[in-house]
Amino acid sequence: MKKPRTIRGVALILLLLVLLPLLVFTVYEISGLSASESFVTEIYHRQLDIVLFSINQSAWDVANTWATGIESGWRPSEEGPSFPPGFAGEFLDKNPAVDEVFIADSAGNRISVLGERGGEEVSGRARLAAKLSGEKPLIDHLLMLSRKNYRKIVPMEQPDSAGGVVLLFVMRSLRGFPALAGFRLRHEQFVQEILAERMREAAAGEFILTVFRLSDGERIFTTDEGPAARPERQKQLWLFPDLAAGIRLRGETIQQVARSRIARDLVILVLLDVVLLSGIWVVYRSVRQEMEFVRLKSDFVSNVSHELRTPLALIRMYAETLEMGRLGEESKRQEYYSTIVKETERLSHLVNNLLNFSRIDAGRRPYALVPLDLNEVVRGVLDSFAPHLRNEGFSPVVELDDSLPPLRADREAVQEALINILDNAVKYSGAEKFLRVRSGIRAGEMYVDIEDHGPGIPPEYRDRVFETFFRIPLPHAPGAKGSGLGLAIALHIMQAHGGRIDLKSSPGRGSTFTLVFRYEHNTDH
Ligand code: ADP
Repeated sequence: MKKPRTIRGVALILLLLVLLPLLVFTVYEISGLSASESFVTEIYHRQLDIVLFSINQSAWDVANTWATGIESGWRPSEEGPSFPPGFAGEFLDKNPAVDEVFIADSAGNRISVLGERGGEEVSGRARLAAKLSGEKPLIDHLLMLSRKNYRKIVPMEQPDSAGGVVLLFVMRSLRGFPALAGFRLRHEQFVQEILAERMREAAAGEFILTVFRLSDGERIFTTDEGPAARPERQKQLWLFPDLAAGIRLRGETIQQVARSRIARDLVILVLLDVVLLSGIWVVYRSVRQEMEFVRLKSDFVSNVSHELRTPLALIRMYAETLEMGRLGEESKRQEYYSTIVKETERLSHLVNNLLNFSRIDAGRRPYALVPLDLNEVVRGVLDSFAPHLRNEGFSPVVELDDSLPPLRADREAVQEALINILDNAVKYSGAEKFLRVRSGIRAGEMYVDIEDHGPGIPPEYRDRVFETFFRIPLPHAPGAKGSGLGLAIALHIMQAHGGRIDLKSSPGRGSTFTLVFRYEHNTDH
């Protein structure tokens, strides 16, 4: 009753000490993994956004440089805004994406279009005037910002049929006199020729940057000519509202990178768990075995002390009675003598086993191999056992194969193995007093069978009965005393001879123990 509770206790402690924290840690880690996935993704996305911001910024920088250039050439006069001769032409030559430059007064009137390419006005003065008058609130806003010394450059209209976009800004003379100015540029050309370099730099072989039209998604420019993959982040361009810049990681996307990292972390976590659990299992098993061994040992001590005390008490009692000479009847006296002999035999058998076991345990049991006639050894043991067998009501069936060749073995050891097994057959047989001893040769091996019709050995104990101290627990063979050493010693002896013990048993029907000798190697021919 005590054992299962203790082992369960150990299991419970292991479970509480290791398994629970492990479980909590695993759950915590797994939930943390998805949090760290979104954390990593967020940081990456922020980095991508910064790259896109810098692209927007550099487009704006170029436009701002142009605006500054136009402002520096501007000569405000009474007649209206004007430029030194040749200024506009030079400007257009330097910046091929720009088609024309225009100036108007701050009300959007008195427009002069300067240095249009090929001498043609692309915009048309009248159309530009109409456009500017329609943008009154925007112009007021730009003037207000300019009063605060801030120059904003804004796209004024959707691209026209020629693919041009007008960027508008406010200039201010040294005396603070404002005027409107703008340039018309082919924005897709601007992206392909001017922004491209900046984008290639920003991509740095790590990202793929693209610029595409928002209306139809068509790619205007890309830093990588491979198949178009959806950008992970995109931003509308400040200067060209119909265009957007997109960015993605070259190769795997951030999510794929994060996922594969998480998958790897999960595998490591699971492996760690498996290793830890296997460790617990090994500890649990060895503790269980240790406890089982301790239990067997303590059973052994109480069994042995009982086994020693009972025959000693009997011998002493019978001997004292005989000594006092009170027994008149001869038959009674004979009975007492034979009991004393029987108990002495039992005692010496036990002491023999104990001594042999301690020698085997210490690895100090010597075996003197000599040529033997196995049948003769079997007969000798049966003869010495005869009175005991008779007393117990057994008349053994003996079938020995007389053609057995000699065997090289230790006589005393083989006797001992036989005695232990015969003794068990008698001890455990109960009401069915059947004993058959056979010898012979089978498949190149010499054997001695000892068969009984006792309670048999349940399958789960067939290996364990050979373990040191092991005894099948009750209700198996109640009343039969023993130390749990007999079969362990017999097996050790057989193995020391290069042999083994086979066991066939059906519970309720009996058992057959077979001592198997590898005689081919042992023969003395
Ligand atoms: P023990 O001193 O207890 O007999 P053994 O090592 O000889 O120790 O046997 C181990 C256990 O195997 C015994 O306690 C008994 O439960 C079982 N056993 C051995 N031989 C027989 C048998 N012939 N029939 C039934 N049970 C047996």
